[in-house]
Amino acid sequence: MTKYTPMMEQYLKIKAQHKDAFLFFRLGDFYEMFFDDAINAARELEITLTKRDAGQKEPIPMCGVPYHSAANYIKNLIEKGYKIAICEQVEDPKTAKGVVKREVVQLITPGTVMESNMLNEHDHNYLASLSHFEDGSYAVVYNDLSIGENSIALIDQGWEAVIHELYNQPVKEIVVASDLPDNLQEDLREKLQVTLSYQDEITFNAEYRDLCDSLNDERLVTAFSRLLNYIQHTQKRSLDHLQPARIIKLDYHLSLDMYSKRNLELTETMLKKGKQGSLLWVLDQTVTAMGSRMLKKWLERPLLNRNLIERRQDIVEGFYHGFMERDSLREILKSVYDLERLAGRVAYGNVNARDLTQLKESLKKIPSVKATLKQFGRENIDDLSDKLTYPESIISILDDSLIEDPPVSIREGSIIKDGYNTTLDSYREASRNGKQWITELEHKEKQETNIKSLKIGYNRVFGYYIEVTKANLHLLPEGRYERKQTLTNAERYITPELKEKERLILEAEEKSVDLEYSLFLEIREQVKEYIPEIQRLADVVSEIDVLQGFAAVSEKNNYTRPRFVDDRLSIKNGRHPVIEEVMKEGTFVPNDILLDQDTDILLITGPNMSGKSTYMRQLALTVIMGQIGCFVPCDEAELTLFDQIFTRIGAADDLVSGQSTFMVEMLEANHAISNATDKSLILLDEIGRGTSTYDGMALAQSIIEYIHDNIHAKTLFSTHYHELTELEDSLEKVKNIHVRAEEYEGNVVFLHQIKEGAADESYGIHVAKLANLPQSLIDRASSILNQLESSEKKEISTEYKTDGQLSFFAEEQSEPAPAEKDIDKSIKKQLKNLDLFDMTPMDAMNELYRLQKEAKK
Ligand code: ADP
Ligand code: MG
Repeated sequence: MTKYTPMMEQYLKIKAQHKDAFLFFRLGDFYEMFFDDAINAARELEITLTKRDAGQKEPIPMCGVPYHSAANYIKNLIEKGYKIAICEQVEDPKTAKGVVKREVVQLITPGTVMESNMLNEHDHNYLASLSHFEDGSYAVVYNDLSIGENSIALIDQGWEAVIHELYNQPVKEIVVASDLPDNLQEDLREKLQVTLSYQDEITFNAEYRDLCDSLNDERLVTAFSRLLNYIQHTQKRSLDHLQPARIIKLDYHLSLDMYSKRNLELTETMLKKGKQGSLLWVLDQTVTAMGSRMLKKWLERPLLNRNLIERRQDIVEGFYHGFMERDSLREILKSVYDLERLAGRVAYGNVNARDLTQLKESLKKIPSVKATLKQFGRENIDDLSDKLTYPESIISILDDSLIEDPPVSIREGSIIKDGYNTTLDSYREASRNGKQWITELEHKEKQETNIKSLKIGYNRVFGYYIEVTKANLHLLPEGRYERKQTLTNAERYITPELKEKERLILEAEEKSVDLEYSLFLEIREQVKEYIPEIQRLADVVSEIDVLQGFAAVSEKNNYTRPRFVDDRLSIKNGRHPVIEEVMKEGTFVPNDILLDQDTDILLITGPNMSGKSTYMRQLALTVIMGQIGCFVPCDEAELTLFDQIFTRIGAADDLVSGQSTFMVEMLEANHAISNATDKSLILLDEIGRGTSTYDGMALAQSIIEYIHDNIHAKTLFSTHYHELTELEDSLEKVKNIHVRAEEYEGNVVFLHQIKEGAADESYGIHVAKLANLPQSLIDRASSILNQLESSEKKEISTEYKTDGQLSFFAEEQSEPAPAEKDIDKSIKKQLKNLDLFDMTPMDAMNELYRLQKEAKK
């Protein structure tokens, strides 16, 4: 067996306990890594891999990062989803016998980072835990360590519901029990892209007992304890800012499945994964980081309770009309710092004096926030004002103790005000007196020696000294000074009395820095007492901020307050909130929508690119905006409360996931059908594209029938299968609408206008024209189509509906000979089956070329 040095033995022992983390092993001024850790860290961090000879034949791979710049390297690894165990020397190397004792003092993991440079100020950073139970239920806990927030949900609709719940939450890490089945663990990693951690031991720590008080179900207590145990295990300290777990009642909220969260681009776009272009981007007119985090949370969990929604609406209306007051409210809120994260840092112990000053300044703003709110003269806003209570004594504590503009460091003094502590004052007095004495000494020496350039200076190595230039040395009296240092053109001297004063000054300074530090810790402890109050305050401030933001955006974009009614949804001149924002003003075409007792399903037809998908998403976004309490983009709206939204966006639009397979499409449709109720909204966009025409059409039809007969959910169904429009006749609550397009000088013009009834058939070839396919190719395609159309009319008119549309292709055709008919039929079928939008122009060209050859035969 290889024999290692004692230090390396120590390393290996500690590493064995932290196999899933990089072990940052403190050695003097560096954190060193060894073996595989070193190899992997060198690769990930792009730092040099070296070797250490540790007493055996093979040198050990090693790399290190300086202690002082470790934060950046840690950040880099965390962002890549790794964990880091910080191992420090826990005794003074000078007094240690043998190998210095070392211990892991903290585990930094993606879900537990506290450092502000690793956190996004506009988003939560969640550590989640997942517990599974024998009865098939699951519990999910979310924790944001940076602010101490905890929430918990019980899920008993099976595993899929767990994934849908966790999807799109800002979860970086999930703590599970190690006996969670492997395939489920794999699911979490793959679908949610999170780091998994394990915590099997669950002890019901007395310290955390009251955090669990609100939990009325043993499963919830177990789940929450798993999380708390993991936090304790990683942070190795008690955290006073953790709040009792708030129970998320999933059926109190409009629930969005994973596909809707993604497809509707609520908080990020599918393509770029950024906020820009999302609904959040349009709606976010908050002025505090706390407010923007809360808005994001609201968007992901719209409300179901009409009273709660209407309360929000009422406040938004008040803010909307009080323009001047809202403006001053916004100005004041802008100077309120991130109270939640400040409170988190107070508890965590990494708060500095500057942070506390920010806390104080923020609290000082609260009275004017309260007063401004009162100016709106609206009951619900008055209530908000009354809820803004805050610990006023913090202000005096901090005002009395901290200087105006303290430094970032809390270990170098200059934090505490004069007059706060008499001992500190006496040290400062001593130091000031000493310095005064030195200034006087300098003056006296100058006079006595008659050397004008004589000066007294200070450096860290020699302390205070008297400096005389070489040219003046002859003026110095004999024996009075002791030479200490020689420079090129000066000598430095000391005297016993100068050294005595120096000792007093340095002693006083050292003592005062130490004292300032411990006074600061005391102050911090005092502030800690008020954390729950600060957290409550932060919550109200965030809510005010979100609601004033709703008013601001509603005014800016001309939104109106929707009314909630039962079983009827009517929107006049509705707009897509995001598309209208990115389009030139006034160019978005508004549209109406009506779903009521007589209409459950709207079947939308219209050419490609006409605006079908936009119309569908517009409805979903409007519903969500309504249910978070915001006004909505239209002239007039009656909305009904939906319990769930399901979306399935057609293969042609589903460019991002790349999974345009029929299977995925069917899975998503199945998910909607098996979970929707008669209170749900279903958006099925061009379903059935992923398979051949007849399969797809048959499935699409049976899905519509199933929803119509069994679910009664309000449904928007867009389709390019024109044949489906006949369902209006057989299914009572199906209604056809279409997007209008017109032909103008041989080109199709999209009017983006929704009209009643079914559309003319697809304008595919005209879209090909827009895509700049060669004119000769388009001409030929038009004539093929035309032939097909005319033969179809005669041959199979019962099967296809033609109604003489597409007349702009008209070109007198002689009747084809019988032999040609079969060829025509086959070409027509092939042409029909082409999915132009899934083809590159080159593919289309090749395909048409082949068809043309066949036609010429
Ligand atoms: P479809 O689903 O019918 O193929 P889309 O909904 O994807 O069409 O819309 C195609 C494009 O048309 C959109 O990207 C948008 O720019 C534009 N568009 C859609 N609806 C409207 C509208 N109501 N007003 C103006 N432009 C619109
Ligand atoms: Mg579409």
